[in-house]
Amino acid sequence: MELKLYDTLTREKRVFNPIDPARVRMYVCGPTVYDFAHIGNARPVIVFDVLFRLLRHIYGEKHVTYVRNITDVDDKINARAAERGVSIRDLTEETYRNFKADVAALGCLEPTVEPRATEHIDEMKLLIERLVASGHAYVAEDNVLFNVPSMPDYGRLSKRPLDEMIAGARVEVAPYKKDPQDFVLWKPSKPGEPGWPSPCGIVTPGRPGWHIECSAMSWKHLGETFDIHGGGIDLVFPHHENEIAQSRCAFSTSVMANYWMHNGFLQVEGEKMSKSLGNFFTIRELLQTDKFGSQKWPGDVLRLAMLMTHYRAPLDFKIDRLQEAQQKIRLWERLLLDLTMWDFRGLPPSPELLDILADDLNTPEVLTFVSRQENTSQISQETMQQFGTDLCFLGLAPDIVQKLYDETDEERARRQEELSRAIRDVKDATRKLNSLRIATSVSRGLVPAQVEALIAARTAARAAKDFKESDRIRDELAAMGVVLKDSKDGTTWEIAR
Ligand code: AMP
Ligand code: ZN
Repeated sequence: MELKLYDTLTREKRVFNPIDPARVRMYVCGPTVYDFAHIGNARPVIVFDVLFRLLRHIYGEKHVTYVRNITDVDDKINARAAERGVSIRDLTEETYRNFKADVAALGCLEPTVEPRATEHIDEMKLLIERLVASGHAYVAEDNVLFNVPSMPDYGRLSKRPLDEMIAGARVEVAPYKKDPQDFVLWKPSKPGEPGWPSPCGIVTPGRPGWHIECSAMSWKHLGETFDIHGGGIDLVFPHHENEIAQSRCAFSTSVMANYWMHNGFLQVEGEKMSKSLGNFFTIRELLQTDKFGSQKWPGDVLRLAMLMTHYRAPLDFKIDRLQEAQQKIRLWERLLLDLTMWDFRGLPPSPELLDILADDLNTPEVLTFVSRQENTSQISQETMQQFGTDLCFLGLAPDIVQKLYDETDEERARRQEELSRAIRDVKDATRKLNSLRIATSVSRGLVPAQVEALIAARTAARAAKDFKESDRIRDELAAMGVVLKDSKDGTTWEIAR
């Protein structure tokens, strides 16, 4: 299998070659945590989860690092905290917890690292100071700005004409900017806003701009150059363009990431679903209420509905798509009910499935492949086992089965350890119980040696097929308050309760 990924920077599908196969590195821009995430926000999370699963399969669980950041410093956060009268920390913590629960319900694995912006302020300041020292940034009225003309090949990712970039940046042209395209790395905090001691000798406390956060966190957790950088298509400009400018200029490298991947929009009637347009449904609403289509939509249905479209294409969020996905999930669950044995650990996904998926994550084709046997009347246990494994690999199997499949090596070892401990505890308890019973029997005048002798006599009688005698001994023991238990390993006894 050869993995090929579409790279937005070179505008072509290229064979994926990691810098270091022992440490494959992927960074995906994560949520700004001020409110429930909408189902459009879930698209990159699901898409890059599929890629994460594929990379883990190819390079090994331990050899893939997936970083998805949390933006917990932002104007929207400040405004919402003030509106609700809660602290910024409480708001971001609560939103983050909700986000984690929502995306877990959509079958997404946890990334390897989920760094918070507010815990990387030092790294951001370090980068900013480097950029100023190397002439790529300057201080103006307590702001630090990146000077775009200082980077001759700025704009390669979005390939926009200059005037469009200026308009697209949607920044009012502050008089202190050397060039209208220059963007903020650090800005002064207004009273009441979160602030940190500023870099570059600025006295007023300040806070970072959005773009520098991702440059700092990817650097800290993945290094100066890494393999894959992802996010929604709306992030190409200005966010990713500016991340590239910052990181490449700070480290004097020719690339920040080798593959830039972007998912298309999830749309409602042709428009991007977004908070600002108000045309959104939160993941939570879809999972728990009947606001959309008069019913709740389980996580696996939402995930499947998402994967029915190729990640780069726009996806229309419609009820009939969800219904189609729901029918499929129900059919799959019915088919899997016939499976008598679950032993898929170590069983790899189908090679055909991997080949299709490795072609720039062609999930629609993968689903056609997975569905190929749906109408076959007799499906062997082996085929079914493979089918179950394929569904697990895609994160689309029924919950209980999926949980086992998704366990990391550590989690599995921990579960096995817990099980052995439980078995040991039960054995200890049984031993204790037996000794208590024997003590009780002795106190009731029962002599264990006598009971054992009677049992031996009964066993001998049974061996000689003298069932009259063996029954008589059993009755005698019963009269003494002893209950016998016969098993293939012999006879044990207990005191009748
Ligand atoms: P935000 O919290 O708005 O920064 O978005 C978080 C992630 O969701 C980013 O990767 C966005 O590109 C992505 N995103 C936001 N809206 C949509 C949408 N309607 N369709 C697909 N991706 C989206
Ligand atoms: Zn980012």
